Amino acid sequence: MRVAIAGLHMECASFLPGELDYAGFERAARRGGAIAEAFAGSNTAVGGFLAVLAREGIEPVGIVHADGGAAGMAADDAFERYRQEIVEGLEALGGSIDGVLLHLHGAMVTPGRTDPDAELLAAVRAAVGADRPVVVAFDYHGNLDGDGIAPATAAFGYRLSPHTDMGETGERAADCLVRTLRGEIRPVMAVAKPGLMVPSIFSATDLVPLSGIVAAARACSETADGYVDVSVFAGFSYADVPNCGFSVVAVTDGDPTLADALARAISGEISERRHALYAPAPVLGLDEAVLHAVHRARTAVGPVVLVEHADRANDSTHGLRALLRHGAKRTVVPSLWDPGAVAAALAVGPGAEVRLQVGGHSGPLTGGPVPLEGRVRAVFPQLRYRGTAGMRAGTPVDLGDVAVIESGGVTVSLTGKSETAIDEDALTQVGLRLGDFDIVLLRSKTHFRAAFEPIASEIILMDTPDYGPADLTRLAYRHVPMDRVFPFVEDP
Ligand SMILES: [Zn+2]
Repeated sequence: MRVAIAGLHMECASFLPGELDYAGFERAARRGGAIAEAFAGSNTAVGGFLAVLAREGIEPVGIVHADGGAAGMAADDAFERYRQEIVEGLEALGGSIDGVLLHLHGAMVTPGRTDPDAELLAAVRAAVGADRPVVVAFDYHGNLDGDGIAPATAAFGYRLSPHTDMGETGERAADCLVRTLRGEIRPVMAVAKPGLMVPSIFSATDLVPLSGIVAAARACSETADGYVDVSVFAGFSYADVPNCGFSVVAVTDGDPTLADALARAISGEISERRHALYAPAPVLGLDEAVLHAVHRARTAVGPVVLVEHADRANDSTHGLRALLRHGAKRTVVPSLWDPGAVAAALAVGPGAEVRLQVGGHSGPLTGGPVPLEGRVRAVFPQLRYRGTAGMRAGTPVDLGDVAVIESGGVTVSLTGKSETAIDEDALTQVGLRLGDFDIVLLRSKTHFRAAFEPIASEIILMDTPDYGPADLTRLAYRHVPMDRVFPFVEDP
């Protein structure tokens, strides 16, 4: 048997200026055999697909996999080109493939489209016809609805955020496809939406009460007689789209009534706990958070982790500016995106004194560039590595050119590419040691928790006047149905 693999992956924050064009996607695009080369053995959805296909002696046929990461909107032209490439690839393969495995995010947005993922899925279904299975692995932050995913034979999402189970999710999807091809199961799906949006920071699945809800969904899958798989999706609230927010997808073996009952039961639980899910932990204002971190760091054992979660492009400077203003010591700010400042540091080289303006270039709400005076500690031209642990284990990471700047008590690593620091690799790959710092400023929403929650003396969630606020009512949504979704209405 042969199974086609394709993917188009991007989490799009509608309110960010700028669009990711085709050339931007191409920086992390792979085709044909290069897909297996990049992802085999990695903790990614495609890594999971490949593991199951290898185990079952099924040949993977890579078409294209492109990843735009997490940023603003995707350009319509870029989406259309990849949609066409995937469709033409499937048409060229014709009857030589038995099924399709797709890796999508579920929260892609373009200026002209609120649900390109659904459009791509429909195009794939049209290309392969009604009979061959098409199974999708989505991100847990996908915004989904029943009509959009109906063309799929079955859909699965990561169960955890941090997404430490991406590989496992790919395996769940591929397993479903293989069992379908063998005639062992006939998957049917049901989707329920509870009418809830939460800020990304509170989509972390170890927070109460969300931890109990995702555990209940997993228990449905693991304790059922016969085939059942339930995925909870938190959605992505910074995408301004009609299907924004939580959804629950249940897949059963030929039993639509059971699928519907399971999806509705978990969705009902989410709806009931909506107040606690929307704000399960305190979020401090900027100066309050930074002063608390500076004070706490004097006596704490283990790093104080300061989370500038409203940053959407890895270049916001509200936190860095406040840390410099309050004289923070033994503080590290990993992976601040600024290609221009990196180039200036590379031009003078290690040991040189520099006066840079760093960060704050991606949009007016990011805080603007902040003056950074100090010494170039080290430079790393074209830094690429594979993640060493956790969510990114085995996954290729490309930071572009990197420069590490020491300015008083604050050390900043500047990257040429926008990549969110989520683990210790962000420090060790640029010659820094976490043990040398008392405060770490991160921009990750949930993924940092896998590496930092066990060792942090405290995690401080900090709100800033940026693109991804904790208070969603600050955003000027145009497409979200605000008359039917919490927090915009009390009782959706
Ligand atoms: Zn996600």
